[in-house]
Amino acid sequence: MPQKLFNNKKKKLSRRTLFMVLALLATTVIFFLQSISTPNNEPLPTLNAIQSNKHNHFIEFSTINDADNNRVLAFRFVNLEKENVQMHTNDGKLQISVTDVYHEYDFSQKTHVSDVATVQQIGDDSIVFSLPLERLGPYQVTIDEDGIFIKILDWGLEGKKIVIDPGHGYPDGGAQGPTGTLEKDVVLDISLKLKEILESKGAEVLLTRSDDYRPYPTSYVQDLWTRVEMAEDFGAHLFISIHNNASDISSVQGIETFYNPNVIQGHNNKKLAEVLQEQLSTDIERRDRGIHPANFTVLSSDQFIGALVELMFITNPTEELMLSNSDMIEKIAQSLAEGIESFFAN
Ligand SMILES: [Zn+2]
Repeated sequence: MPQKLFNNKKKKLSRRTLFMVLALLATTVIFFLQSISTPNNEPLPTLNAIQSNKHNHFIEFSTINDADNNRVLAFRFVNLEKENVQMHTNDGKLQISVTDVYHEYDFSQKTHVSDVATVQQIGDDSIVFSLPLERLGPYQVTIDEDGIFIKILDWGLEGKKIVIDPGHGYPDGGAQGPTGTLEKDVVLDISLKLKEILESKGAEVLLTRSDDYRPYPTSYVQDLWTRVEMAEDFGAHLFISIHNNASDISSVQGIETFYNPNVIQGHNNKKLAEVLQEQLSTDIERRDRGIHPANFTVLSSDQFIGALVELMFITNPTEELMLSNSDMIEKIAQSLAEGIESFFAN
């Protein structure tokens, strides 16, 4: 009896093992088939190379269309590590260099990988992709372990997803003017007006707050991250945070714009800041305080192009008065809309 029981058990166990092996095999085959079919159904050049344990294995370049029908330039890698990718603009070109890279092609000469991109080998293990900016137009970059993806956006505001972020909100009033004007109220008025104008030009607009309350009322820090998450969830192309400046010295005045150069969209962020600042200082004739790099939480996302505008000093009596005037609110909103429009039109 004990012997027989043992035998039965053993048989059952081996049948189960066989079943598990078959299931595992089937799963592996499905995974394998999925991994070799790219969105445009181009087969990968060589499969054995994927076995390489080298990092940043460049496998192919392709052009695909995303769900919104944007053209995406896809530089595909296996196991791409973000920290090996550097981007900068130089001589009218976007240059993307990748270090610690393995590939099977001859890139010793500058080689065209598409109508817009060239690639060149630098040293033993680096390659540089080069793209002329004037042929790219407005674009957004995504980098993940599968590669570098450059989404080419259409010109114009039509269909653009824009997030307007009115700073502060109850219980945080923001800065306060000498006669008691609160930043949170001024920036909400500007933002509501700006939304109206951008929507009339075909953009899809999300406000991080459309009433007096900040998105996450109980925590200042969490509130800022919530604004970023809202924009990421919305799939924002562009994010603009609206503020008024403050100083202990009441004579300090003017307009300035902040941007984050140290994220994937850094070069676009700087361009957006330049365009907005130029437009604002032309239209609202106040002191042009220029653009400045900053690592503010609301500008820390890799996913969208963003800037933070400081629209005059609410602590300056003249500027506080200007910011309390509905014609000026309208003028500022118009100016911001024109700046955003020209960002998508250069
Ligand atoms: Zn503020």
